[in-house]
Amino acid sequence: MSRLDSVIARLTAQRACLDRVSDAIAGLPGPVLELGLGNGRTYDHLRQNLPGRDIYVFERQVNAHPDCIPPDSHLFLGDFRMTLPAVAARFAGQVALVHADTGTGDKSASLALARLLGPLVIPLMRPGGLLASDQPFEDAALVAIDLPDGVPVGRYHLYKRA
Ligand code: SAM
Repeated sequence: MSRLDSVIARLTAQRACLDRVSDAIAGLPGPVLELGLGNGRTYDHLRQNLPGRDIYVFERQVNAHPDCIPPDSHLFLGDFRMTLPAVAARFAGQVALVHADTGTGDKSASLALARLLGPLVIPLMRPGGLLASDQPFEDAALVAIDLPDGVPVGRYHLYKRA
């Protein structure tokens, strides 16, 4: 597979997963948390899929396309380790969907960050709330759910809070 093929496959899988979870939370109230704005691609896709839904973005440094920068009221700027604990009381048990796209080229650092994020975000999710991530999560409160057709196991990860 060429590097171009690989990028296309990764983004196609990511879009399919975001479409799957966006549909799945249709009847579930609560905000969406986007962890990792990056250049704003997935934020833009989620807000297109979920008009009217509050989407709160967590990012340490905004470098997104100008059209894809959330309003100040919906942006928590800083390291996840600081910003997520700061909203724990506000969002506890309410969040319908967490999308965590936090990986970098460093596989072990990406896995370590996901391990750290689990205890910070899972308590924010409502029962039945969903987590979509580029990294695997392991927590007794999470049940893995099926990936969309065509998305290979391990490419993206979808969970429901039991
Ligand atoms: N979903 C984005 C998109 O579609 O454009 C790409 C996100 S990019 C893979 C990961 C982002 O997570 C980067 O913008 C990085 O700055 C942010 N990030 C990584 N670790 C972080 C941390 N500990 N605290 C806050 N932001 C972090």
